[in-house]
Amino acid sequence: MIPLISDEDLWARVSPQDNDPPRTFLTKRLITKEVSPEKLLVINSLSGACDLFYADEWDRINQCNRERNFRSLPKNIYSFLARRGYIYFDETDEDRVFVSLMQYYRSKPSELQNSIIPSLDCNFNCTYCFQPKSVRRQNLRMTEDQVATAHKIIRERISRSGNKLLRVFGGEPLQLQNHSIIEKTLCFASENELDLQITTNGFHLLEYLQLFRKYRNVSLYVQVTLDGISATHDVRRVHARGLSSFERIVRGVDALSCLPKAHITVRHNIDQEILDEYAEVMAFVKEKRWHLKKNIDFQLSSLFKSYDKSISVTDT
Ligand code: SF4
Repeated sequence: MIPLISDEDLWARVSPQDNDPPRTFLTKRLITKEVSPEKLLVINSLSGACDLFYADEWDRINQCNRERNFRSLPKNIYSFLARRGYIYFDETDEDRVFVSLMQYYRSKPSELQNSIIPSLDCNFNCTYCFQPKSVRRQNLRMTEDQVATAHKIIRERISRSGNKLLRVFGGEPLQLQNHSIIEKTLCFASENELDLQITTNGFHLLEYLQLFRKYRNVSLYVQVTLDGISATHDVRRVHARGLSSFERIVRGVDALSCLPKAHITVRHNIDQEILDEYAEVMAFVKEKRWHLKKNIDFQLSSLFKSYDKSISVTDT
């Protein structure tokens, strides 16, 4: 086991006492990802632990879990699992930790971000997207009831925390199928004087302009990604139907930047290929005179390749 987060930084952990009966239940609140044939990354969403396990260790742990008996596990592995909040007596024991974690966050609403994800669908197939295609094509979106419930919860939270920022992201939030969810959310932001931060690939910015104009009293913070210039962008930020997107995103940024309460961050996801053509990117920005606009700024983000090509750290 190789801890990537220290014990001190965990949200919740279990200290095994001498008189503890054996814990026999592995939490289900885990995200696992194979990082090499020998190693597995395990993220414990209940305790915040993030650890690398050797595959044979993890197999052994799961075997114990199936048998509901961890006595055969070496002592050092057992105490590591207990200390880092992986094993519990039973589901009730696990739920107790979950409830106390929720109570902690409810009592400190400022620690929570207000976010709405209309859907995880996306109309792009970016070459480095971390979301599996099956998720991006599942054609599921928030129902009207879910949107209303989310707004109700966010309104309660705002009244306690004063945090007036609402983030909207996906997938791709500004797809045409999400129009009514976005309209309701803009209306909600307008009524409650919230700032709205939207992370989008920008393909449908132009179609959403009318709605943004209608709710022009809302401060909009829109992040749009343009990787390089046209030729590079279109082969990395690939539209699902093979359509070119660069020019229409640029027109969307131009139009949006004319709205008085819109702030745009143009994000570039950087790797060696983009760096090699950065002089051309700068020339393009200057030609558009974006660098002179007070409501446009720029963000460079690295694409960090992890142990294998299937993992990259990025968002839209
Ligand atoms: S990186 Fe963003 S825009 Fe690209 S496919 Fe993934 S979710 Fe869509």
